[in-house]
Amino acid sequence: MNRRDFFTTTALGGASSLLGSSLVFPETAHANASEMFAAVPAARMKLSFKPYTLELKHPFSVAVNTRTTTPVVLTTIEYGKFKGYGEASMPPYLGESQESVMKFLSKVDLSKYDNPLELDTILSAIDAIEPGNTAAKASVDIALHDLAGKIMGQPLYNVWGLNKEKTPNTVFTIGIDTPDVVRKKVREVDPQFKLLKIKLGRDNDREIIEAVRSVSDKPLVTDANQGWKDKEKALDTINFLKEKGAVLIEQPMPKEMIDENAWITERSPIPVIADEAIKRLSDLIKMKGMYHGVNLKLMKTTGLREAHKMITVARAFGMKVMIGCMTETSCGITAAAHLTPLVDWADLDGALLIKNDAFKGLTFVDGKITLPSAPGIGAVPR
Ligand code: MG
Repeated sequence: MNRRDFFTTTALGGASSLLGSSLVFPETAHANASEMFAAVPAARMKLSFKPYTLELKHPFSVAVNTRTTTPVVLTTIEYGKFKGYGEASMPPYLGESQESVMKFLSKVDLSKYDNPLELDTILSAIDAIEPGNTAAKASVDIALHDLAGKIMGQPLYNVWGLNKEKTPNTVFTIGIDTPDVVRKKVREVDPQFKLLKIKLGRDNDREIIEAVRSVSDKPLVTDANQGWKDKEKALDTINFLKEKGAVLIEQPMPKEMIDENAWITERSPIPVIADEAIKRLSDLIKMKGMYHGVNLKLMKTTGLREAHKMITVARAFGMKVMIGCMTETSCGITAAAHLTPLVDWADLDGALLIKNDAFKGLTFVDGKITLPSAPGIGAVPR
């Protein structure tokens, strides 16, 4: 079998099943794709990467820290005339850095794979290089999905068989601040978004919520970021939040306090969503029954492939699903957005919080996530 036949009969058919796709390639797309492969018979995948620093528009505070920049690493996988883009974002409290990501990526050799569409094979091997390094792994996963979609000539939502009209509204996040600043920030964004996310977990939670309520009646997504240490007090605060129009609470107590978080889940009038407590699929299985739902972020899940599996497992467990993000460019954010037709809530405002977004991708129309229809992720370097 020559190379062209191999790709025509094996790779493309195999790719649609590996990606969990219901996509059937029309004859014309098939012919075009094989011509594309025929045009690059000697192509090998090549991974490149560079550090980049995201500058935040405003200093951002959550229960555990404040920052004004976020380090990222931007990745590119070239394959003939195709280029897939990805990214790793490393908020410092998660333990990865530009150095650790670049060190990990220097161990990734994509040139040994003949077929860039064998995502399961390639990404499983990369996952096995070393434990941890979830953002570094995500940066390859995202670029490889982008590349695969571009080779197939389809946006990722089509590859996965999803309806792009079913994307939810994104929430917009208000960091912890003084009541005056919170009021000012909420006033600024209130007309553009249907849901606001309010960061809590210090000692002024009620004051902040009252400040928000003095200027907005939007439903609130609330997040304590592990900031509460007493379960009875936490439940009291959650009851107060419910009265004030909160629709969910993320990570009320430290992730290690499993029984206390589960105690709250049993009693809470609104869904209790795990964030810090669940990074990967194995955590989701361990935490079954402890939370009502999970907030998935590509930088925790090692990318799109595992996030997609986690959505399936979470649904089988009867759990709610949210997709969130770190501070990221529109590359990582748009990649995550392609999964949002499958979820209950999306918190994908990360690129709106930065001054120097390196990509153009998803847009928000009245707060609703609007996916680009170009092949792959559809994010374009600026
Ligand atoms: Mg959170």
